[in-house]
Amino acid sequence: MQLYSTNNKDLRVSFKEAVFNSLPADRGLYMPETIPVLDPGFIRDLHLYSLPEIAFTVAKNILNDDIPDSDLKRIIDDAINFEAPVVKLDENIQVLELFHGPSLAFKDFGARFMSRVMSYFLEAGEKELNVLVATSGDTGGAVALGFLGVPDTRVTILYPKGKVSPIQELQLTTNGQNIRAIEIEGTFDDCQALVKLAFNDPELKARFRLTSANSINISRLIPQTFYYFNAYAQLQRQGKHEVIFSVPSGNFGNIGAGFLAWKMGLPVKQFIAATNINDTVPAFLKSGVYQAKPSVQTYSNAMDVGNPSNWVRIMDLFEGDSSELKQLLTAYTFTDEETLKAIEEVYHEQAYIMCPHTAIAWLASRQWLRDHNDETAELVFLSTAHPCKFPDIFPEAIASKIVVPSQVQELEGREKLAVSLGKDFEGFKGYLLRG
Ligand SMILES: *Cc1c(COP(=O)(O)O)cnc(C)c1O
Repeated sequence: MQLYSTNNKDLRVSFKEAVFNSLPADRGLYMPETIPVLDPGFIRDLHLYSLPEIAFTVAKNILNDDIPDSDLKRIIDDAINFEAPVVKLDENIQVLELFHGPSLAFKDFGARFMSRVMSYFLEAGEKELNVLVATSGDTGGAVALGFLGVPDTRVTILYPKGKVSPIQELQLTTNGQNIRAIEIEGTFDDCQALVKLAFNDPELKARFRLTSANSINISRLIPQTFYYFNAYAQLQRQGKHEVIFSVPSGNFGNIGAGFLAWKMGLPVKQFIAATNINDTVPAFLKSGVYQAKPSVQTYSNAMDVGNPSNWVRIMDLFEGDSSELKQLLTAYTFTDEETLKAIEEVYHEQAYIMCPHTAIAWLASRQWLRDHNDETAELVFLSTAHPCKFPDIFPEAIASKIVVPSQVQELEGREKLAVSLGKDFEGFKGYLLRG
């Protein structure tokens, strides 16, 4: 596969280069030069295949021989080793649960695939890959657990001291092996600034092979297409053939992967982008003017994004023609108050507990049903995280009913292995150089 930059369509780089560098120097985003349309027979027969089998065929078509079949199969079987079930909630509404991986969030799909692809592309004798990540919570857990035990890689995670949830902290700090956690006396922005300084430091660059495992890395986007195909396979088994996906959106990588799946031939009737009050995209669809804004803090904090980084990829898929995009995409925005009410309502009526991000996607599905009299399509909203990751926002009566999955319970007795550092760069650099 060759990729171009959204800022320069004449540029061509290999998949390997895009994986290790995340971003082109011109500050665009990498996009595949050709997006293959899958064999219609394969789409029709999706119900015959398992998630890893679907993932293999989708990846093979898009990567186009960058990784030989047997290696690609091994990478996928190792990375995509958990389920993504569609669960029926109500008449015509189902939830696609993407939180059954090790960090209990959909980012596991991207992080686990990326880590194994990076390890695969390291050449014999090449330096160990040093991944530096700043996190406010969710991304760091997925990256830490994604790279845990992956050969020839080492991960250093920086997080703001006292500002991540207890479960997130366990996921960041109890791993050992090739994962190190540093709690910084400062904010998430301080953590991010330290990582940026490290990438620009000549001494560190000479000594280590540094990479960012950035969320806009193309190798995180590709595996997120797998679960859209696999969700459709599950609907086929129920005798359903029309689907609308409602996606809780922040940086628009998740829904961007949905559009990629659609381009590859998945028959999706409509996408719904569900946002919190960080409503840059819903406002754009209304007014036609894209206006980035400073982000505002909400309960669904993984979606507190005022300038969604993957939006240019979606515009690129539609070649800047927003009229076609507007036919396929509806967007809704909801407040924290509505989010809490939705969590309570679904808990009382369906005995189902949603995380705050998922609740926004549920609200958007319901709004869509109110706005359109469509009884033929199945509405599938994506659940991006397990509710136990956000204990503070639930009323006690609901919080006490959340069942913490075993992969997190196991972490509870473990020793916290974080180093504490200040927010000055010299201290951080000295720590890295000491190895
Ligand atoms: C990252 C994240 C999102 C937002 O996904 P994007 O791909 O950035 O749109 C939504 N929910 C949860 C729980 C997340 O961690």
